[in-house]
Amino acid sequence: MKGFILHTAKAREEDLVVRILTKDKVLTLYRFYGARHSYINTGYLIDFVEEETLVSINRLRSVMQLPFNFLMDFEKMVTYKEFIRLLNNHLIDVERVDSFYFEMLEEIIKKLSFRDAKRVLIESYVKLLKKEGRLHPLNRCYFCEKEIKNKITLARAFLPAHEKCILTEGFEKEKLKELFENNKTLLFDDKEIEKLWKIVTLGF
Ligand SMILES: [Zn+2]
Repeated sequence: MKGFILHTAKAREEDLVVRILTKDKVLTLYRFYGARHSYINTGYLIDFVEEETLVSINRLRSVMQLPFNFLMDFEKMVTYKEFIRLLNNHLIDVERVDSFYFEMLEEIIKKLSFRDAKRVLIESYVKLLKKEGRLHPLNRCYFCEKEIKNKITLARAFLPAHEKCILTEGFEKEKLKELFENNKTLLFDDKEIEKLWKIVTLGF
């Protein structure tokens, strides 16, 4: 089975409890001496076997890392792992999942090899909000419910707002429209990408 490692937590001695996102499930598995293996790491894509046990937690067995080519790019990995951390929190109480999430990560690791990490992840986040029906129309402020005529600012979960309602500097409407409608960040400069990324990191 293939899966992305969402989270690892130390258990007894060098053992690990590992959360893995597969195509249709989020599994929590036990790995003996997992801490000795560098390939059991957040964000990594692995091939593995889930072994049934008599205790409440199944075992993680026969792990093989399926490498991707930005693994050695420190900055990209830090950004990617932050996205995985946010996704793990988002899926915290979930066991069955839509294949959207696994496929989203497959697409992300392909794109990260040749594109800017934050741009790719912001675009993926917009797709996630759309998929979950949480992307709000840009012309209405989520907080005061009145129309937004000038610049639009975004709160956590990309909720549109007036600059005065959440006291944050806004973005030009055309740029956000391109992002919300076509999932494209190309109209934003790097400084704006940093601002958008900060909003993403507030939590899914
Ligand atoms: Zn408002």
